[in-house]
Amino acid sequence: MTDVRRIRITIEGIVQGVGFRPFVFRLAERHGITGWVKNTTAGVVMEAEGDAPRLDSFVADLEGEAPPLAVIASVVTGEISPKGDTAFTILDSEGSTGPVRVAPDGDVCPDCLRELFDPADRRYRYPFITCTNCGPRYSLITAIPYDRPNTTMAPFPLCAACRAEYEDPRDRRFHAQPLACPACGPRLRLVDADDRELPGDPVETARALLSEGKILAVKGVGGYHLAADALNDAAVRELRRRKARDEKPFALMAPDLAAVRIFALSDAVEERLLAGPEHPIVLLRKRPDNPVSPLVAPSNGYFGTMLPYAPLHHLLLRDRFTGLVMTSGNLSDEPIAYRDAEARERLAAIADFFLVHDREIHTRADDSVIRVFRGNPLFLRRSRGYVPREVRLPVEVPGVLAVGAELKGTVCLARGDRAVMSQHIGDLKNAATFASLAETTAHLQGLLEITPAVVAHDLHPDYLSTAFAEGFGELRRVAVQHHHAHLASCMAENGLDGQVIGVIFDGTGYGTDGTVWGGEFLVGGYDGCRRAGHFRQVPLPGGDAAVKEPFRMALAHLHDAFGAGLFDLPLPWLGEIDGGERKLYLQMLERRINSPLTSSCGRLFDAVAALMGLRGRVSYEGQAAMELEALAEGSGTMFAYPFAIVRRTGVAEIDFRLMVRALVEDLVAGRPGAEMARGFHNTIALAAADLCSEIRALDGLDRVVLSGGVFQNKLLTEGVVQALSDGGFHVYTHRLVPPNDGGLALGQAVVAGYAARKGE
Ligand code: ZN
Ligand code: ZN
Ligand code: FE
Repeated sequence: MTDVRRIRITIEGIVQGVGFRPFVFRLAERHGITGWVKNTTAGVVMEAEGDAPRLDSFVADLEGEAPPLAVIASVVTGEISPKGDTAFTILDSEGSTGPVRVAPDGDVCPDCLRELFDPADRRYRYPFITCTNCGPRYSLITAIPYDRPNTTMAPFPLCAACRAEYEDPRDRRFHAQPLACPACGPRLRLVDADDRELPGDPVETARALLSEGKILAVKGVGGYHLAADALNDAAVRELRRRKARDEKPFALMAPDLAAVRIFALSDAVEERLLAGPEHPIVLLRKRPDNPVSPLVAPSNGYFGTMLPYAPLHHLLLRDRFTGLVMTSGNLSDEPIAYRDAEARERLAAIADFFLVHDREIHTRADDSVIRVFRGNPLFLRRSRGYVPREVRLPVEVPGVLAVGAELKGTVCLARGDRAVMSQHIGDLKNAATFASLAETTAHLQGLLEITPAVVAHDLHPDYLSTAFAEGFGELRRVAVQHHHAHLASCMAENGLDGQVIGVIFDGTGYGTDGTVWGGEFLVGGYDGCRRAGHFRQVPLPGGDAAVKEPFRMALAHLHDAFGAGLFDLPLPWLGEIDGGERKLYLQMLERRINSPLTSSCGRLFDAVAALMGLRGRVSYEGQAAMELEALAEGSGTMFAYPFAIVRRTGVAEIDFRLMVRALVEDLVAGRPGAEMARGFHNTIALAAADLCSEIRALDGLDRVVLSGGVFQNKLLTEGVVQALSDGGFHVYTHRLVPPNDGGLALGQAVVAGYAARKGE
C-alpha cells in the first residue's frame, strides 16, 4: 500500500455560485479521494486525502476541468497530516462567505442545449433551462450572498423534481440558483401592444410573425431586443423608421457558425469569440454576396454578429432564420429597456408584438461589442458576459469609485489589486441613463462590498459624471485629466507601473489648459503626467456641432492650411455652402466665435473624411472615421503624406498642414480615394512613431501605451503598433477594456487610488 497523504487547498477567483463545490465533490469521487470542501471568506477551501498519484491527478484536474463559469485566480496547497476520512463531503458555508465574486451572465451549456431539443426531456423547449455551468447570473442577482432568495428567481418555489436535482451533489443542477422547469419556473408569453396574449405556442407564433416581417420586442438576459428578419428589407426598413435610427448598424444574431458564414467572413479567433461563453457581438467583414438586407448595416463593411446565448434565442432561430436583427430595445440614445412596464411603454410604437416572461431582469446589461485585433478582443463596448469580471491591478489601491466620462458611461470600483468595471451605462446626457449611473453604482457597491474612500472623476467641470461625483460630499474627490486616465487605463490592464509614453488618440477631452485635447503624447504614470506633444490645434467651429457635422472640421483644417482663400479650392462639396454661410464660417474661424481650439485626432479623421467628400454630416458618433477606415482597407499602399514636427517651449506639435495641402492636390488630380485614405492612416502612424522617437531621445522611455477612442480603428492601430515596433518600442494596446471612454473609469480609479495611497 502506498503512503496516504492529505493536503489543504485554497482556491481563489470566481469559484462561488458556479458549481465549484459539486465539481470538486464529483472529481474527488472519481479519483477515490476523501475529505471535504466548503466555501469560506478566503475562497473555496478543501482537504483532500489519498495516495500520492491519485492526489496529484486530482489537483491537476481541479484546474484543468474547472466548471466553465469558474475563473481560478490562485491555488494554494499545503501538506497536513492524514485524518482517515471514509468519504468526501460538501460542508456548509462558514458564516458569511465574505466578498463573493459574482459571475457574469453565461450562455447555454452543451448539456442544457441537448436537453432543450430532446423531446424526451422534461425541459424540452423550456426557455429557462439552466444548470450550474450556464445561464444568467449578474443580471438576476439582487444581493449577496448568491442564493436563490437573492435573485429574481425568488418568486418561483422549486417543484419536487427540481428540488431533488438542487440537493443532489452528483447532479449538475446541484445548487444551481436559477434552476427551473415548466412545472415551477417562469413562463413565456407572446402578447400584442395591449398585453393581450396570442393563442398557440408563443415561440412558434413568434417565429411565424417574424417570418411575415413583423417586429418583435424580445425580453432577453440583460434587456429587451428588437427583433426582425434580417433578410427582409421591408421589415428592416420599418424597424429603422420606427426606431428613428438612420444609419447606425444593427446587430445580427445567427443560429450557428454555419449561418454566420453565409453572410460574413470570420477567422478561427473570431469564431472562438463568437461561440465563447461571453457571447459578444463580433464585428465581422461582410461577404460581398451576402443575402442580408443592405439596410442592416448601410455604408459599413461589417456586420455586428452574435450567436444565441439564451435558450429562447436558440428556440427562435434554429432551423428557421439565417439571421435576425437583434438590436437594443430602445429609441436612439436611450438606455436599453429591461423592466416590463417600461419596455411596454417605450417600445409600444416600435414593436408589433412582445415576447415576454415573468423572470425579472434586475440589472440591465447591453450586449458587448468587440473586434479582433492580432488575435485578441478589442472592445468597443464591454458589458454583458464580461461584467463583473475583475481586472488585476499592478498596484494596490484603497477603496475607489471612478465615475467615467460622459458619452460611453461606465463606473469602476477598485480595492487592493482588483478593479471591477460596470456594464455599459451609456450617454449620461440622457436623463434615464443618468439615473442608471446612480443605480448601477449602488448595486455594484453592494455586490462587491466596496465602500469607497475616494471618488475619481473627469477634470471636465461640466460633465454630468463630475456632478455625480460631487454628490459624494463627504468623500475625498480626485479629478483626473481625461487623457491621463486613458493612459493609466491601458497601463493598468497591461500590468505596467513606472513611467511610459502615452499615445492618446481620442475624440474629445478636457485639457489642463481648458482647451479640447485629443491628439496627445503624454509622458508619465499613475502619479501624474506631462504633455510632451500634441497635434497642431485648430478651431472646433460651433463646438459640439462640429462633431455632428464633420464638414465643419474640414473647413477648420482647410482654413488652417490655406487661409481665407479656402473657398476658392476646387472641391465639389464646398460648392454646397452658399455665400452667406461661407461668411459665417470664416468669421467663426477667424474670430474664434464659439470655436474652442482642439488638438483632437478624432476630429482630424472627421475632417479628412469630409474633405474627401465621404461624409459632411454623421448620424452617429465616429461614423465618418469608420467610413474612412473602410475606404483605406481597399488599398495596400505604403506611401505617407508630409507633416512636420515643430517645437515651442519644450512641447512638440505635429503640424499636418502639409498633408492637408497634399490631400487637396490629390483630390484635384483624381487620385483613388482608397489610396488617399490609406496614405492618411500611414501618415498618422508615422507621425506617432517619429514623435515617440524624439521623446525617447529626451526621456529614455521605450514603453508606449496606445489609448483613446480612435484606437477602435484597427487599421490605424495596426499601423501605429507596426511603426513603433519597427522603431524598437514596446507597445501596449487594450485587450480587457475598451480604448474609448468606456474604459476610462479604470484609469481614473488607479490614478486616484494611487494618489490617495500616497496621501497626497
Ligand atoms: Zn447548463
Ligand atoms: Zn421544477
Ligand atoms: Fe476619451
